[in-house]
Amino acid sequence: MLVFACLSPHPPLLLPDVGSTQDRAQVQKTITSLKKLGQQLTAAKPDQITISSPHPDWGFNVPLHFLNKSKLPIKKILTDSQSPRVHFERGKKITAGLPRSAKRGSSRAKRGAFIASGDMSHRLKKNGPYGLHPSGPKFDKEFIKLLKKKDIHGILNMNSRLVEEAGECGLRSFCTLLGALEAARVNWQPKILSYETPFGVGYLTAQLL
Ligand SMILES: [Zn+2]
Repeated sequence: MLVFACLSPHPPLLLPDVGSTQDRAQVQKTITSLKKLGQQLTAAKPDQITISSPHPDWGFNVPLHFLNKSKLPIKKILTDSQSPRVHFERGKKITAGLPRSAKRGSSRAKRGAFIASGDMSHRLKKNGPYGLHPSGPKFDKEFIKLLKKKDIHGILNMNSRLVEEAGECGLRSFCTLLGALEAARVNWQPKILSYETPFGVGYLTAQLL
């Protein structure tokens, strides 16, 4: 069973030994949100943490720096270039695959936490890493609007050109989590904790369960 789920950004500058004091001051809301999520995750007492990410290394390490305080078993899933829907279907299988308790005669399902690591558009500002593209802000706004409405169909069918032009990296990771939630049949609620764009990349932090 799923007991915790969130979306986490993953810029390495969030880390105290990577980001300068000035850098980190500009993403203070994100850092505060991630610390809060860390407390929530610990309180949910998961037996296992699953984390999806479009990149190895920092894609896993940055969210886990804030979220994993208890050295639980961690299952890492790397997303690929397949469609958001394919990732949604993969996510469903992850929930089904959550191991049950090893205790004989016990039917208690293991408690799973799911972190979907990913950043939003990288094309939000002229002086950002990939400049400004009108599809950048449009994608971020639309994704957040659809997420707030729990419009999974809308998210899975976002215009592929808009997605491509936005230069995002998190959509497939987020869709993996949405699939896991769908299969878990839990009443999740989107709570946007913060959304910041100081360097032209969208950092969305949200708790879904
Ligand atoms: Zn990324």
